[in-house]
Amino acid sequence: MDQTPKSDPALQGFGSACVHAGHTPDPLHAHLTPIYASSTFVFDTTEQGMNRFSGKEEGYIYSRWGNPSFREAEDKVAALETFGITGDDGKPLRAGALLHASGMAALTTLFMSHLIQGDKVLTHPSLYGGTDELLQKIFPALGVEAAFVDMHHPEKVEALLKTDPSFKMMYLETPANPTLRCVDLELCLGLARKYHLITAVDNTFASPYLQRPFRYGADYVFHSTTKFLNGHGTAIGGVLIGRDLAHMKERVTKVHNILGGNASPFDAYLLTQGIKTLELRMTRHCDNAIQVARFLESHPAIARVNYPGLASHPDHEIALKQMTRPGAMMSYELKGGMEAGKRFIDALRVCVRAVSLGTCDTLVSHPASMTHYGVPREQREKSGISDGLIRMSVGIENPEDLLNDLDSALHG
Ligand SMILES: *Cc1c(COP(=O)(O)O)cnc(C)c1O
Repeated sequence: MDQTPKSDPALQGFGSACVHAGHTPDPLHAHLTPIYASSTFVFDTTEQGMNRFSGKEEGYIYSRWGNPSFREAEDKVAALETFGITGDDGKPLRAGALLHASGMAALTTLFMSHLIQGDKVLTHPSLYGGTDELLQKIFPALGVEAAFVDMHHPEKVEALLKTDPSFKMMYLETPANPTLRCVDLELCLGLARKYHLITAVDNTFASPYLQRPFRYGADYVFHSTTKFLNGHGTAIGGVLIGRDLAHMKERVTKVHNILGGNASPFDAYLLTQGIKTLELRMTRHCDNAIQVARFLESHPAIARVNYPGLASHPDHEIALKQMTRPGAMMSYELKGGMEAGKRFIDALRVCVRAVSLGTCDTLVSHPASMTHYGVPREQREKSGISDGLIRMSVGIENPEDLLNDLDSALHG
């Protein structure tokens, strides 16, 4: 199926685009695009079937290759990630998006579409645990290696790129899980462009409301839609958005269709409805997060808070530069270490004990024993994930209930 995005009406506001972008009026006048729970699509004639296969005629064939329920979510996300950005031709930027069964499936499509044996990926420590394992445990066996370099030292990055022509892709995650370290997108993507690397940015923690990497020239933006985009924790999903429409259509779509990590129509429907409130939710998430961060930072039981919105965060300036607001993810350490951390988490009554993030509910987890369990301890500690670190995705509850819950759990 052709991934060329259709034109949406020109909307002034991002929140309006969240609601309306990507929608195609339903032929039977349903307000919401129905859930197209159909594996295959009918041809009127053999000739029509031939024309759809050859691309002469637009139309759906088989849901691994595309489905109207996926399409609406794909076009909506593409519209949001390109919102307000001008392309190289001076016209509004357009991008193509491919919805996947999970974030990890979308990442697999990204890497498999561009890398072959002997190629290297330049990235940084403190990636999402699954991404880290994909790059360290799966791809090396296929002859694709990754180098984990601290992107806060551009001279080191450039020295590597200058001497090693096998670097084909730069992969960034900002803010990164769970220390909330940020990398300077303008600087790093500029360096990558100078050495002709393909660039991709994991924008999951920020969402397109807070940060749009295409503004700094990224080739691909990636989301685990499981998180803020869905926003309600109702489905796993991933989306890969690319600015080179021809390459998306010819190469990336082909790889995705063959790998088979397609989404489900029901999950796509949930995602589409979830995104409609993205601006509203993110505003509340961010309002709550700064209050929680300040409360924790001033609490005597807390040793350290990692939140890019605090002046104490090492990447506060970078976050201010490239994000409209510093988001709703944070992590912190209790003075009493591992044991105090466990006691605190178990005493929470409003915040939910669970991994994942970006839901309406505040979620609290323990990276060392949960999300980063598979990452070797030495490497984990190098990237700031100590045994006592607690990660929190601040939800959209009323802030007084969150602060009361945290306060009593810290006393408990
Ligand atoms: C969750 C997550 C992923 C992986 O996405 P899944 O939907 O769980 O497959 C990748 N990157 C980040 C930053 C994430 O939070």
